[in-house]
Amino acid sequence: MVRHVVVFAETKQGSLRNVSFEVLEAAKRLNDGGLITAVLIGTQEQSQADLLAEYGAHEVVFVENKQLDTYTTDAYTQAFTSIIHEKNPDVILMPHTAMGKDFAPRAAARIGCGLITDCTNVEISDGNIVFTRPIYAGKAFQRRVVVRDQIFATIRPNNIPCSKVDHHESAKKIQKVLNLDEIRTTVREVIQKTTDGVDLSEAKIIVAGGRGVKSAEGFGPLKDLAQVIGAAVGASRGACDAEYCDYALQIGQTGKVVTPDLYIACGISGAIQHLAGMSNSKMIVAINKDPEAPIFDVADYGIVGDLFEVVPLLTEQFKQA
Ligand code: FAD
Repeated sequence: MVRHVVVFAETKQGSLRNVSFEVLEAAKRLNDGGLITAVLIGTQEQSQADLLAEYGAHEVVFVENKQLDTYTTDAYTQAFTSIIHEKNPDVILMPHTAMGKDFAPRAAARIGCGLITDCTNVEISDGNIVFTRPIYAGKAFQRRVVVRDQIFATIRPNNIPCSKVDHHESAKKIQKVLNLDEIRTTVREVIQKTTDGVDLSEAKIIVAGGRGVKSAEGFGPLKDLAQVIGAAVGASRGACDAEYCDYALQIGQTGKVVTPDLYIACGISGAIQHLAGMSNSKMIVAINKDPEAPIFDVADYGIVGDLFEVVPLLTEQFKQA
């Protein structure tokens, strides 16, 4: 019986990331009548607590210290683990984002509990907590049954559909001003990479280009389509290596893992390392001039043709829709 779940609620530029609500949804699946606590680190708006309550948090802990206003592994680990030590929950959940990947292992080691990463599903089965996670670059799924008293897990974004609770009370707000031990890292300057358009990791639709786009300018028709349908632009490593686009757009085993509702792959062959990052998309459309391209094996819809003809036609059709 899970009596208490603590979730780390991640924010970006002052707003809660959608994955924070998905992590709360995972908490709701485990928690039958128990307590769900959300932890917000750094200076945050009090109104975030109301939003978290709408998605199922019963209490929200605001952890403040001026050293927490800029993310560092060191400071966040100290802040988060101090709350875990105080609350001693059965389950600790965190988004499997760059931040989660960075500080969850360190936090789990400090707490002294096991960590199951990159989970795509969470359930109670035969009275046990069961986490599902991909293995072999997404070729198979592993179900991990929890046998310890306390467990820590990270949840892959865009996998657990989140919903608001029907009747919720306001979350209890708890303010914590922490005295952190000596912090060994100091952030001198943050140089933010500006990305135009929709954030790739949270996008519901992605238009991705591969080496088939042939040049940086070749991404032009893909960007036009993305703008019309409200999509983010992504890329294969082939396109990044060829310097057609920035590595920030790379999707795959060594890039971002995405699970949008719709993934449109243009001029991408479908190498196993690329599939590792997108094959769990809910619907895949592939445009490739080679009918034998392996991307068609995972595609729900395939268009055999030249992307420079097909993509502008799609854009025109969507404009008229
Ligand atoms: P290609 O394989 O060259 O395919 C281009 C495709 O475009 C072809 O299928 C061709 O038919 C089609 N095409 C050409 N012109 C047109 C046109 N006009 N219209 C329509 N179609 C056209 N790759 C990733 O993507 N992400 C990763 O994270 C990643 N990690 C890797 C990690 C390791 C350790 C290794 C070894 C490799 C990794 N790779 C990764 C690289 C991967 O193996 C492939 O080399 C890469 O995905 C190929 O990119 P591509 O499909 O764009 O290019």
